[in-house]
Amino acid sequence: SHDVLTTDVVIVGAGPVGLFAVFECGMLKMRCHVVDALDMVGGQCTALYPEKPIYDIPAHPSIEAADLIDRLAEQAAPFAPTYHLGQQVEKLTRQDSGRWLVETSIGTKIDAQAVIIAAGSGAFGPNRPPLDGLEAYEGKSVFYMVRRRQDFAGKKVVIAGGGDSAVDWALSLADVAERVYVVHRRPKFRAAPESVARMDALVRDGRIEMVVPYQLSGLDGENGQLTAVRVATLDGEEKALPADALLAFFGLSMNLGPIADWGLDLERSHISVAQPGCATNVPGVFAIGDIATYPGKLKLILCGFAEAAQAAHSIRPLVYPGEALHFEYSTSKGVPGAA
Ligand code: FAD
Repeated sequence: SHDVLTTDVVIVGAGPVGLFAVFECGMLKMRCHVVDALDMVGGQCTALYPEKPIYDIPAHPSIEAADLIDRLAEQAAPFAPTYHLGQQVEKLTRQDSGRWLVETSIGTKIDAQAVIIAAGSGAFGPNRPPLDGLEAYEGKSVFYMVRRRQDFAGKKVVIAGGGDSAVDWALSLADVAERVYVVHRRPKFRAAPESVARMDALVRDGRIEMVVPYQLSGLDGENGQLTAVRVATLDGEEKALPADALLAFFGLSMNLGPIADWGLDLERSHISVAQPGCATNVPGVFAIGDIATYPGKLKLILCGFAEAAQAAHSIRPLVYPGEALHFEYSTSKGVPGAA
């Protein structure tokens, strides 16, 4: 079993608001661990619109979402946050000491004085195709991402989806797999035109077999190992593709998931917080960013930044009880490592 890590604050969610909370806590001498279901930081900015410019970040007339995240991570770095990525926070347990024990889907355990939930609309996860018996195959022969291309060497692989991930992996695996099928419900792909052109060329060479317009309809196999993927047209005409693996690329969606079970006051899938201060109804647990709601709430990154400052100031007396705060601006105090 895992050792229990100890910190001042656990931040659930490494979106823009969670990242800025590391800075705000750091300025008040509180250390943070940050957990995210995604294997990268940045939340919606990274997962949904990395190349889109944002125009309403103060002092940045225009900044691409991915650049904003790089800057936020840089601003947080002097406070040496520990990131736990690719894992979902599942359990939040109040201990006898009043401190919190945070547990993740892969067994990371963190003991903290306070928890800041900056979870957006919930944890990002893959959209899963609605197929009977799917769970038995997941992680064994059905995957939503490729960790190692070589795992598919010499295999018959069915790739489903019509976006960049489907097309890019079809191109990449065509070199190593025995056979690559691409299943999509319509002939048009929503992917970089140059990649689609390369895929079309491999189809002409017989290295990729196009299965359109079809949708996934069933899985055949045993003990988690696929033998065939069944596909059907809208008219219900079905066929079976012999397969060792299915890669399904239907995008990401956000799911509140376990957060709904933590005893927090929810208002239509958002966490109600007090203003000012961002405290939830549960002592020691705070919520900021898109997931937090209160009268007049605006779901904007800039409002989330202000909420991060509020939460940090709310938490400080819990971490340093009885110590008066001599409020200082960042200019007078300086930031570790800043020139
Ligand atoms: P998110 O960015 O949603 O990040 C939350 C993170 O928490 C996610 O990474 C998720 O995986 C993680 N998480 C959730 N639950 C768990 C759990 N249990 N365990 C582990 N991790 C968990 N806003 C603007 O201000 N200006 C704009 O121009 C703008 N443009 C936008 C354009 C688009 C296309 C979209 C979709 C949004 C836009 N927004 C814009 C909104 C902005 O992206 C959000 O307000 C912002 O991302 C909220 O940040 P957050 O940190 O609160 O949450």
